[in-house]
Amino acid sequence: MNIISIIEGNLRYALNIRTSIMVFREENYCKKCPIAFKDGRYTGFCNKSEGGCGCLIGAKTSQNTEGCPKGFFANNWFKPELFNEFLKEYESTNRR
Ligand code: SF4
Repeated sequence: MNIISIIEGNLRYALNIRTSIMVFREENYCKKCPIAFKDGRYTGFCNKSEGGCGCLIGAKTSQNTEGCPKGFFANNWFKPELFNEFLKEYESTNRR
């Protein structure tokens, strides 16, 4: 992750100048991703302790060049099957 990209993401997020794809990433992936939750509550962070990158999700999803550390999305593509598979696996592991 380069510094320009981090600055871009934080500025876009702070100033609310996000494209629809940036909002889509957060709404349809991160806000449904167990890595962003702690004790059942959405933290707003891609939690490092859960295998994420540690970034603030609003800023992370507002970068043009950076993708999800788990490979669920990147600049202009999404992998819904991979994400759904991860959710199923996570759910079954945490039910045991
Ligand atoms: S792992 Fe990917 S989808 Fe999950 S919170 Fe982090 S950036 Fe979002």
